[in-house]
Amino acid sequence: MTSIRYIICDLDGVVWNGDSFIEGSVEAITQLQRGGASVWFVTNNSNKPPSHYVQRLSDAGVDQAHQLLTSAQAAATLIESDERVLICAGPGVEQAVSEAGGAPIPNTEDAVGERIDAVIVGLHIEFDYPRLDRAARAVRSGARLIGTNSDTTFPTATGEAPGGGAILAAVEAATGREALLAGKPHAPMAAAVAERVGPEFLPENAVMIGDRYSTDGRFAAELGCRFIAVSSGVKPDDEDVVVWKRVPCLADAAQHVVGDC
Ligand SMILES: [Mg+2]
Repeated sequence: MTSIRYIICDLDGVVWNGDSFIEGSVEAITQLQRGGASVWFVTNNSNKPPSHYVQRLSDAGVDQAHQLLTSAQAAATLIESDERVLICAGPGVEQAVSEAGGAPIPNTEDAVGERIDAVIVGLHIEFDYPRLDRAARAVRSGARLIGTNSDTTFPTATGEAPGGGAILAAVEAATGREALLAGKPHAPMAAAVAERVGPEFLPENAVMIGDRYSTDGRFAAELGCRFIAVSSGVKPDDEDVVVWKRVPCLADAAQHVVGDC
């Protein structure tokens, strides 16, 4: 077995559930890093800017927390510079579009009648019928429809809550169009990981740790690396995914990996 140098680690359901860190997760990340692994955090949560998640990890004592990618950043790789992008998502997408050189257009009454090149849909707590209407009209007028991710739910301390994929499904239903998808398990996120980690990244030296088989497990397959499934988040949802190891939580995953580092 080739030694493991890179850990691609999901956040929701692996490191934390809602406001609570999962027991032993921070210690497990430290253990992996001390064992010689480079840990990269890859989340489909697009709502907040990456700095929010980096700060939360750093405050809990995680080193190298800046090694983090969100599905908002993956979605922004699908935008050409100077394109006008209707933001049907949270502030994380607005920031990612700006950083990619695009022009974020807030999904307000002022956007009606404006030229829109693309609509990006992600988790958006304030999503409502007028926002759905404006997004759908822009897509019917020719804008590309891009989804940060297709997760229909995400885990919280009180159970699963509707995810960005649920909002995207509404826009797809209202337009009859199928979105381009950016986050795990899709190719734009895999390309973003390979670019950020650098040319030394080799899938055979990497392991994906996640809770959702249909996103994390499929993403491991997209990257070409092994998948460790934890049961601290959502329930298994894709029985065709190849799983290297099944463990209760990140702390158990770290025990398995450190021996292979
Ligand atoms: Mg997860």
